[in-house]
Amino acid sequence: MKPVIALVGRPNVGKSTLFNRLTRSRDALVADLPGLTRDRHYGEGRIGERPFLVIDTGGFEPVAKDGIMHEMAKQTKQAVAEADVVVFIVDGRQGLTPHDKTITDFLRKSGRPVMLVVNKAEGMKYTTVTADFYELGLGDPYVISAAHGDGVMDLVNEALDAAFAQRPAEEAAPDPATRGIKLAIVGRPNVGKSTLVNTLLGEERVIAFDMPGTTRDSIEIPFERDGKHYTLVDTAGIRRRGKVFEAIEKFSVVKTLQSISEANVVLLLLDAQQDISEQDAHIAGFILESGRALVVGVNKWDGLDNDRRNQIKMDMERKLNFLFFAKFHFISALNNSGIGPLMKSVDAAYAAAMAKLSTPRLTRALIEAVEHQQPRRKGSIRPKLRYAHQGGQNPPVVVIHGNALEAIDDNYKRYLEKHFRETFSLVGTPLRIELRSGK
Ligand code: GDP
Ligand code: GDP
Repeated sequence: MKPVIALVGRPNVGKSTLFNRLTRSRDALVADLPGLTRDRHYGEGRIGERPFLVIDTGGFEPVAKDGIMHEMAKQTKQAVAEADVVVFIVDGRQGLTPHDKTITDFLRKSGRPVMLVVNKAEGMKYTTVTADFYELGLGDPYVISAAHGDGVMDLVNEALDAAFAQRPAEEAAPDPATRGIKLAIVGRPNVGKSTLVNTLLGEERVIAFDMPGTTRDSIEIPFERDGKHYTLVDTAGIRRRGKVFEAIEKFSVVKTLQSISEANVVLLLLDAQQDISEQDAHIAGFILESGRALVVGVNKWDGLDNDRRNQIKMDMERKLNFLFFAKFHFISALNNSGIGPLMKSVDAAYAAAMAKLSTPRLTRALIEAVEHQQPRRKGSIRPKLRYAHQGGQNPPVVVIHGNALEAIDDNYKRYLEKHFRETFSLVGTPLRIELRSGK
């Protein structure tokens, strides 16, 4: 599982600047999709080959009330509890403040490893900028400039080392053999996740039910359905009790992100008896950014009248239109209805995500697309698209080579995506287009 780094500190020390630097979105297209709400407090980062999750605890307001720390936002407490390592940021230009001490006390009680980081240190001497902060008793501070990037790589590498040192037991635990499609079932509390898992596992052969759980409650349940193998991975928000799975009341963004990143296909469950909420849209946004294949189950379809059915369909079209690439299924986990077709779409989404697209086929499709519609000129520059090859799977990445490709706008990129999607029948998976200009 990806290590989790929480960024903590009082307002204005540079948390979100660091967060943005660590999670800089790889895909500008994602940012433009209408309807997509982003939770800017959670993101994925990567340093070399090391992926991680990062949480910006932006809500941390240690405002003193009668000298006592104000009740910290629940989210922030949860974030610290779920983090493997806490990066505690202080402001090197401002020096030590009483709030920094309050936060230190809280972090000490949390029992998490803490790295003290002095930000805004560009152009300053280590000894000068750190002198104040030894008083916190957190050891030698790290020194960075989040704005300029100085020291950030080293900091993250150290944080990841600390995170891995934290969980030797888990690393050593034998991984149950995952087979077939790795499937995560996600959704906000009460949409029917555990009901669906019980329905799926109840009627089908569970190959090895008793998997040793790790310290972090991760779940891996291989099962077989219609002769096909699947493994349920680390499904957030449910827990095993005896032979059945039960819902966990608390919603955890971190667990949801972990589940998504471990899966090949994500099954997003929605509740047809409720309107689409912010939380649904956030989770959908995480899935989109992760690039995982996706199938949407609109659950509790039983017992709804036609008016309600139309209403929820319109609500989804309005709020989740950025999931245009996914199949929506109207199901009842409770009555075991619609589950067969749903799982067929899981298979199809997986096949699309793993599709192998040869260079000649991709190039032919590219030429077709360009013949049908040329990219626009930008001034006197006309982009020239020459050939395409596949740059990755799950999600498929199509890398297009040519000249002056930086002049290609998002609309044209979307047109290309649509063309590749249709040509290769890619349903249920995001598709990324990368443009590479030769010099
Ligand atoms: P947050 O409230 O902790 O999330 O802080 P922000 O990331 O919003 O940063 C607060 C202010 O500090 C902004 O004006 C940033 O531009 C500035 N800032 C952040 N990092 C640095 C840095 O490394 N050096 C300098 N000089 N300013 C910084
Ligand atoms: P979770 O929190 O997402 O795991 O949700 P649960 O599986 O615990 O379900 C929450 C509630 O919704 C329970 O009372 C279920 O019985 C009910 N529920 C789940 N699926 C369905 C369904 O398909 N139809 C109806 N009517 N109720 C359902």
